[in-house]
Amino acid sequence: MTATQNATDRAAQSAVVSLDGVSQRYVTDSGDVVHALAETDLTIPEGEFICVVGPSGCGKTTLLKILAGFLEPTGGAAHYRGKQITGPAAARGVVFQQPNLYPWFTVRENVALGMRMRKVGKKQRTEKAQEYLELVGLGDSGDAKPYELSGGMQQRTQIARVLANETDVILMDEPFGALDAITRGRLQADLLSLQRAQHRTVFFITHDVDEAVFLGDRVLVMSARPGHVVLDQHVTLSADAGHMLGEEMRRLPEFIELREKVAGAIER
Ligand code: ADP
Ligand code: MG
Repeated sequence: MTATQNATDRAAQSAVVSLDGVSQRYVTDSGDVVHALAETDLTIPEGEFICVVGPSGCGKTTLLKILAGFLEPTGGAAHYRGKQITGPAAARGVVFQQPNLYPWFTVRENVALGMRMRKVGKKQRTEKAQEYLELVGLGDSGDAKPYELSGGMQQRTQIARVLANETDVILMDEPFGALDAITRGRLQADLLSLQRAQHRTVFFITHDVDEAVFLGDRVLVMSARPGHVVLDQHVTLSADAGHMLGEEMRRLPEFIELREKVAGAIER
């Protein structure tokens, strides 16, 4: 067997999620057909942090819904660890663009909800919820009700809830889009260090090129319509970058170069 075949086999074996000829057409209420996504192949290996950027309407959320199992594609199939995705599963956690908390539960109870459903004991789930609340900077807000929190804090609660579930795959749809710049910068750094420590497989949608290159091991640039991948870019920075979080990494010449390459692909 050749080295290339070996590498191909390894990639196939370690694929956590894959899209195999997936395409999507929507039929609108008025009967028009929207070709939202062209035939797409994609393999996401174990532990990869993949970011997807592209203009509004290019099919990013459609891709995420297919991977989550909320939407069955009109063409092709998506797979999770070799099995066709036919519906949502607890192994794939989803962070939506907008917070979706239960108003009658406290912030801590919201974060612990998934653990409670998995019958994790009260002491353990309370501790874990607290740990993730601290990670998102809400260590003192556990007893509050969601309505007592700002929109940004509610969004951070949603992120804590999904991270606390410690799912195999994390799917995030512009999770930091509505946050102020300071909070966003902090959460980016925290998410990155968490991902490095836990080696989670992350599929992250953003329209912010800087965020994509900062977080991603790999950046996909999509173009409308029908949505398709125009650039599939691995982010390989110098070995030193592995422990950099924030401005230090953003100042690396290689970082700036990659950011310009990705931005250029979007504008084309
Ligand atoms: P993005 O997340 O990149 O902004 P979406 O995946 O949400 O893009 O949408 C891609 C395209 O499909 C858009 O043109 C959008 O209007 C259309 N679309 C999305 N959902 C539906 C739907 N349920 N019915 C009809 N058209 C849809
Ligand atoms: Mg979207």
